[in-house]
Amino acid sequence: MVDCLIAFGSNQGDREGAYEAAVNSLNQSQDVQVVAVSELHVTEAVGGPGDQPSYLNGAIRLSTNLSGANLLQLLIQMEHDLGRVRLNRWGSRTIDLDLLLYGENQISTPKLTVPHPRMSFRRFVLEPAKEIAAEMIHPLSRLTIAQLIERIALGSRVVLCLAGRDLNEAYGEMEGEFKAKYGSAWTLERVDRCDQIKGNPMNAVLMAYFPLGNSRGDSSWLAAKSFKGPTLELPRNPALARQELFAAIEAIQ
Ligand code: ATP
Ligand code: CA
Ligand code: CA
Repeated sequence: MVDCLIAFGSNQGDREGAYEAAVNSLNQSQDVQVVAVSELHVTEAVGGPGDQPSYLNGAIRLSTNLSGANLLQLLIQMEHDLGRVRLNRWGSRTIDLDLLLYGENQISTPKLTVPHPRMSFRRFVLEPAKEIAAEMIHPLSRLTIAQLIERIALGSRVVLCLAGRDLNEAYGEMEGEFKAKYGSAWTLERVDRCDQIKGNPMNAVLMAYFPLGNSRGDSSWLAAKSFKGPTLELPRNPALARQELFAAIEAIQ
């Protein structure tokens, strides 16, 4: 049996009812045992289209003999049964179930990335998770859920960005918008080689990185692994990269 952590979010319809239904439905599955369920936390919507209703976020810890892929399949089926419709990215939803942790395994397939790639800096994910899984390890940073919260709460307001020289233009645009948006409240610091990331320079609260190749053995990903804190992989498209980074900062604050 594998010890797993699921994130729940809802900002449409009967939000408490959706949480209850999700927990019941997990409990009914023969292959899943629900171990603990967090309280629901009210959070403002982050990153998506403006004017969204606020969210209820929760976390569910379970034990399962399903593979990661089959567990995700079950979560997607449950979302579907509870009326989830995907219109635009980060748009309103009746239910969202993300597979955060599958033991300490790392999974990387076209349909599934574990640990969930945006869990390590999202306050709205980490706070409910801490209630029931404070000691669980995030296997990329090797920090526990409790330590990740501490990092985003008490860390500096410095973001490291690993962008190779081929990304000068994309980085320049991002830096310009970053300065206009955050002034002196946040600092964006560029590194262009992964060997410059030793330990945790400047106690940065986040390391954002552009992938250099398409395999997980590439040096940007190795840099992410050697950074002892929250990380964010950016898309190479400059406009999407900015959107991703600003949403991450909103989720930290
Ligand atoms: P975010 O992933 O930033 O929280 P979201 O939850 O709104 O955004 P979805 O539209 O629910 O995104 O998911 C898009 C796809 O992400 C899913 O179809 C699924 O295949 C994929 N996915 C990859 N890794 C995971 C994971 N760990 N948990 C859930 N879905 C995942
Ligand atoms: Ca999600
Ligand atoms: Ca999701």
